[in-house]
Order: sequence, then C-alpha cells, then structure tokens
Amino acid sequence: MTSMLINREDLDFLLFDLVQAETLVTRDRYAEHSADTFRAIIEAAHTLAEEKFAPHNRKADENEPTFDGERVHMIPEVAEAVKAFADGGFMAAPHDEEWGGMQLPITINQACLALFRAANVGSSAYSFLTSANANLIRAFGTESQKQRFLPPMFEGRWFGTMALTEPHAGSSVPDIRTTATPVGDGTYRIKGNKIFISGGDHELGENIVHLVLARLPGAPAGARGISLFLVPKFRVDADGKPGARNDVALAGLIHKMGYRGTTSTMLNFGENDDCIGELIGEENRGLTCMFHMMNEARIGVGMGGTMLAYTAYLHAAEYARTRAQGRPIEAKDPTAPQVPIIEHADVRRMLLIQKSYVEGALGLCFYAARLADDARTAPDAAERADAEQLLALLTPIVKSWPAQFCLEANHLAIQIHGGYGYTREYPVEQFYRDNRLNALHEGTHGIQGIDLLGRKVALEDGAVLALLRRRIAATADSARACGNAELASHADALQAEWDTIAETTTQLRAVTKEDIRRGLANASLYLDMFGHGVIAWIWLQQAVAAHQAQQAGTRSAAFCAGKLAAARWFFNCELPKAGPQHALLRRLDATALDAQADWF
Ligand SMILES: Cc1cc2nc3c(=O)[nH]c(=O)nc-3n(C[C@H](O)[C@H](O)[C@H](O)COP(=O)(O)OP(=O)(O)OC[C@H]3O[C@@H](n4cnc5c(N)ncnc54)[C@H](O)[C@@H]3O)c2cc1C
Repeated sequence: MTSMLINREDLDFLLFDLVQAETLVTRDRYAEHSADTFRAIIEAAHTLAEEKFAPHNRKADENEPTFDGERVHMIPEVAEAVKAFADGGFMAAPHDEEWGGMQLPITINQACLALFRAANVGSSAYSFLTSANANLIRAFGTESQKQRFLPPMFEGRWFGTMALTEPHAGSSVPDIRTTATPVGDGTYRIKGNKIFISGGDHELGENIVHLVLARLPGAPAGARGISLFLVPKFRVDADGKPGARNDVALAGLIHKMGYRGTTSTMLNFGENDDCIGELIGEENRGLTCMFHMMNEARIGVGMGGTMLAYTAYLHAAEYARTRAQGRPIEAKDPTAPQVPIIEHADVRRMLLIQKSYVEGALGLCFYAARLADDARTAPDAAERADAEQLLALLTPIVKSWPAQFCLEANHLAIQIHGGYGYTREYPVEQFYRDNRLNALHEGTHGIQGIDLLGRKVALEDGAVLALLRRRIAATADSARACGNAELASHADALQAEWDTIAETTTQLRAVTKEDIRRGLANASLYLDMFGHGVIAWIWLQQAVAAHQAQQAGTRSAAFCAGKLAAARWFFNCELPKAGPQHALLRRLDATALDAQADWF
C-alpha cells in the first residue's frame, strides 16, 4: 500500500537529487554514514511512524489528556510510542556518538522527524521538545549539567520543555516577570507563572526538565535582563539522581482546537517559595541561548506545518481517485457511469495547488536543514559562515510560509472531500485543526514578517540578501543550461521577480529608516511575497533536478512529469500574485496603519 505519510520517491528526490545529502558523508562528522545507511534509518523511522504513531492519532485527538488535580492522564499508546521512538535511537540520533547518538546529519534527522510529524504530531511533540531542550543543554550546559541531564533525556526516560511564555508576555517575551533569586549555594529560587507550556506535565517518564526564562534581581529591563534556568520537576542531585518533588505545580491544562495529544499547561513555579533551578549559560544571556537554538527549532515548525499538509494532500489525492461523482463536462449521456472526481479540472487544480505548496515547502525545509548542516560541518570557514547567514535570513520564511500556505493546502484537502471532509469520518479536518497552531507559536506570522523586513533582509548591510540572490542566479543559470525552453522561461521569470523584490526591499528599507511604523506596517504581506519568491526558487531547483532525472531515466516518468507540472503551476499561477503585493508595498499603503481603534 502506498504510504499516506509521504511519497517516498519524493522524499528520496528531495534528499538526494535536490539537496544532495549523500555529499555530507565526506565530512568527518558523518564519515561513518553512506547514502545506504541514510535510507535504512529513514526506512526504520517510517516503519515506526506507521506502526506506533499513526494508529492512535485520531484516538489521541478524541481523548485529550485530563488532569484530576494531582495527576495527568492520557491514553497509554502515547507512552508506548515515545518509548519506541527513544528505543529506536531517534532521541539521540543527531547527537555525538559519545552521548549514544548516531551523528546523523540534521538533514536526515529532519527527514525522519517529518515522518513522525505526519503520522501523529501530538504524540511526537513530547520527544521533539525534549530533543530541542537537550540540544540547548548540549550547547550551553556545564559539564556537570550535560552529564546529569543528557543521558536520561537521550534514553527517553526524562522529558523536556521550553518555558518562555507568560500570560502578559507572549510575542513580547522580553516582558517576562518570572524571577530567579540566588540562594547562595549556586542554585536559584524561581518564582512566576508560565502559560501554554507544551508537555509541561505528564507521566511519560521519570522527570521533566523545564528550561525557564527568568530575571535575576536587578537585571536590566527587556531582553538584556533575561537568564535561562534548568528547573526539573523532580530535583536532581550531584550524581544525576532525581529526588524530591520541586515546587513546580500544574495549575491546569489548556484545551485546544488541535494538537490535542500534547498537554498544554499552565505552570506555577515557586508557589511555596521552594522552586530550585540552575542557571544555564551566562547571566542575562538567556534569550541569546534560546535564539541560538531557534533556527533549528524553526525548521521543525516549518516541517510540522508542511507535513500536516503533505499527508492531507495524499489523502485528498487518494479520495479524488476513488470518489465517483458527475460526468465529464462535455458528456451528454446521463446513464453513462460517473467518473472519479480527479477527472474534473477544478479538482486537479486544487490538487496542483496543494502539491505545489507542500512539495515546495518540503524542499525549502530540506534546503534549510542542509544549510544547518553546512553551517556546522562545511570544510571551508567561509562556506560555514555563508550557510549560517543564509539560514538566518531564510528562517522567517521556513517557519512562516508553510504555516500560512500549507494550511491553505489543508483547507483544499477538506474541499476535495466535499461534505465528507467536514465530518470526523475523515482525517483531513484534524490535520487542518492541528496545523492551525503553526502560524501562532514560535513567533506569530506578524512577528516573523517584522523580523524579516525589519532585520533579516538588512543583515550585514544587505550582503546576505545579495548572497541569496547570487544563489538564485546560479539556479537560473543551471535551468537555462538544461536546453529546455520552459525551464529557461521559468528562470527569466524568477530573476525578474527577484529584481522586483530587491527594488521593493530597497524602497521599504529606506522608508523604515525614516519612519519605522510606516515602513513595517505591511511587513506580513512582505513576508508572503518574499516567501513566494523563495518557493519559486525552490521549485526551479526541483524542476531542474526533475528534468535531469527525466533525461537520465533515474526517476519514474509520472514522478518527473508531476514535478514539472507543479513547477509550471507555481510559475504560471502563484508567482504572478506577487505583482499587486509589490504595488501595495511600494505605495506604502497606510490603510491599516491609519485605521483607528474605535473604527472596529
Ligand atoms: C498550542 C500552543 C503551544 C505552545 N507551546 C509553547 C511552549 O511550549 N513554550 C512557550 O513558551 N510558549 C508556547 N506557546 C506560546 C506561544 O509561543 C504564544 O502563544 C505566541 O508567542 C503568541 O503569544 P500570545 O498567544 O500571547 O499572543 P499575542 O502576543 O498576544 O499576539 C496576539 C496577536 O497580536 C499580534 N502581535 C503581538 N505583538 C505584536 C507586535 N509587536 N506587532 C505586530 N503584531 C503583534 C500577534 O501577531 C497576534 O496576531 C504555545 C502556544 C500554543 C497556542
């Protein structure tokens, strides 16, 4: 049976034809691997995702965790799944061998995680949060912290959270009020309330390690006065043994429209003035530590948004092939058999939109993951620096474009199912609800737009944007070199669009320097437009690779034709949408900026 999680030929194409993951094995860190081991690990992840995660996706949605005032209860399948994930070595997979890891490249690790996300986003979140938490301890922890906290996390016995948000400080993280007071023995007493903390309480393992942002006494206001603390649910002694309960209380669970399998918690730290935490990293550098890890975490969010739409697209395509309804528009005979709805052009239009969004977004996520690998392991220092900067520039797109446009693909998956898509008999409504989160957490769409236009495009005085444009020009050259008129025409369209983006950017940056409110007023539209330009570039890369595979006969004919059609769709029907957006941005449309609060 074909998988409903991902098209494996597409996954293989994106990893090996598009981002050339096998070239990573020339790096010392990955020398033990080969394209074969990569494929074998992905196969194992796929099997585990199908067998242990996918089967209870609906059940976890319908039976969300409950809190009886003392303990959190959830369906037993979640614990079995997260245990199987750790037992399979996936918790530690990207980490050093000395920590029991496989030293898997980030690109391949993301491919594995993509499968779990498609299978069951709620259950897989516990492990992914733990992995992000462990990453941060690995990067900034003392030797003792690493020794005590990492092994049980990698073994899947302890779990982790990221505790930033407070009721009055969501997007505005620098406004947090949680305090950390030195006790005198090197530890700190933590006091404050956190909200929306994913995986903040449960009984899946022996301990939960919260990474908590808090302020030291007398710390400067704002972002420069925030420190980061390790706050375990059960205190951890010098030998790493968990002991007495720390003063971290679950104030309640939050009930959500999607992602219901993951507990969302309100946590009270230090209600009894007895919550002990340890500083991690330097004082007042907590946000820097957090953000250091954000680029990778945000590839994960982009991947989550993409995969929830990818699996929905596969379900929609399958439904469209099997649901018979109506006849060809030109048919005259009312007794002729009905045709599968995939025969109707409008249904194929919806499938093409979905395909161009989800496969475009997945290509972008892998491109970003490859940059993360290059930033870490490329042999040449300049190449590492370029990869790091390019990743920083692309991160708002990687995080936000899938959240926005792959959600649109989820919406179309419901549309293809007709009225049945609106019922709970089919999974597409759950995928839509689950995916709705991704435009909200890890920086809302609006905040990402401000980050892109207000900061990222101006990195190094515009040199990083120039670097991106050089890479785009190189792709356009490779497309022209294919000797195919259609690819050459896509290349021209792409470069023309990027000339326009560069000019729009220059104009907006100039205004932003004079009047930041006016310059950034439409930043989220700028992000949508810039994102379409980036995805068009990813599609041209895919079209070139598909053309080459077609010529060489290395991929199936239908696969290559489908890729080229999706690229055509994106260039013919999506990229032109940017025109009116440029016009709006350039005339500094101030309708929203000038609107008054009492008009609404
Ligand atoms: C299911 C779920 C899981 C989560 N998991 C975690 C977690 O594990 N750990 C954690 O710390 N947090 C978590 N969060 C919190 C999440 O990161 C925040 O919800 C998010 O940052 C937005 O904050 P907010 O909800 O307070 O919205 P607000 O910040 O109040 O934003 C409301 C709206 O105003 C807009 N807005 C706000 N400020 C600005 C501005 N300056 N300029 C323009 N527009 C603005 C936003 O874009 C948004 O549209 C989670 C949230 C949810 C829903």
